[in-house]
Amino acid sequence: SDVLLEVSGLTTLLGDAARPVRVVDGIDLTIRRGETFVLLGESGCGKSMTALSLMRLLPPSGRVTAGAVHLAGTDLLRLTEAEMRGVRGGRMAMIFQEPQTSLNPVMSVGDQIAEAVRVHEGGSRDRTPARVVELMRAVGIPDPARRVEEYPHQLSGGMKQRIMIAMALAGDPQLLIADEPTTALDVTIQAQVLRLLKDLQAKTGMAVLLITHDLGVVAETADRLAVMYAGQILETATTEAFFAAPAHPYSRRLMESLPGAAKRSARLAVIPGRVPHLDQAFVGCRFAERCDAVMPRCRDQAPVWRDLETGQGVRCHLWDEDDGQPEGLTHGIRDP
Ligand code: SF4
Ligand code: MG
Repeated sequence: SDVLLEVSGLTTLLGDAARPVRVVDGIDLTIRRGETFVLLGESGCGKSMTALSLMRLLPPSGRVTAGAVHLAGTDLLRLTEAEMRGVRGGRMAMIFQEPQTSLNPVMSVGDQIAEAVRVHEGGSRDRTPARVVELMRAVGIPDPARRVEEYPHQLSGGMKQRIMIAMALAGDPQLLIADEPTTALDVTIQAQVLRLLKDLQAKTGMAVLLITHDLGVVAETADRLAVMYAGQILETATTEAFFAAPAHPYSRRLMESLPGAAKRSARLAVIPGRVPHLDQAFVGCRFAERCDAVMPRCRDQAPVWRDLETGQGVRCHLWDEDDGQPEGLTHGIRDP
């Protein structure tokens, strides 16, 4: 099948048992082979905790309490820790926003990539140096034979992120999870790293789950996306459908907040109000405090998930009677 990763009902709690915070609340995602799937949302909405749940790399106080995660048929949540280590850095790898925090400062970058290669390939050490240079070349590091000797502090942020990508590629992953991989980089370097990920995907056929708060990154890279808010998915869509006619009021606000020409680099921090704290029991819609289409029922009934005829999915009462048009809107979501 063309489904690579299937996440259903994933629920993750953080904090002590007496007052846990539900950072991921029953999310469903399907990622297809070879595609770029973007998880979009403001800071604190649960994107990173979702990724760490999938990788089973949650902090000590975090635990997945419900749901299933299937990677090409393997139920990741049922693997032993040893089996999961084999999956990480193998079929599934992850890169982070701050590459320097994942790199060892006192080890040459060549040795660090070599270590990733050995974890994957086991004994055959003779081929390792050639493979290291090959990986560095694959991620566009100039003069790799010389740069293997360098240490992380000698490299720019963009080069460090390329080293992290090379390490992730050592295991020939089917899925690369990239959590805000370009957020710490300046705009030109950002574009280069995103381009690199696209090129590597075309060559290797791996899927990428890209986490971002940047709508410009979505436009640039995504095949499909999910909008996350306060621990839940509020909308899923193809990138084309999303930019043509976002279905959820939150998505629409994200879009409206971008002046047309600035779309490519705009950030999501401009909607009034804040993402609600997750240490509360929600009754109605989690977006109600910030929603310009809020209705009485939004306050006391949680909206359920609906699949729309456009192929989009949405969690909002406006679509309770789906006739292709959201109800009660004077300034239509679907107007051009
Ligand atoms: Fe707005 Fe109601 Fe839809 Fe929530 S359910 S997004 S409050 S219209
Ligand atoms: Mg994050």
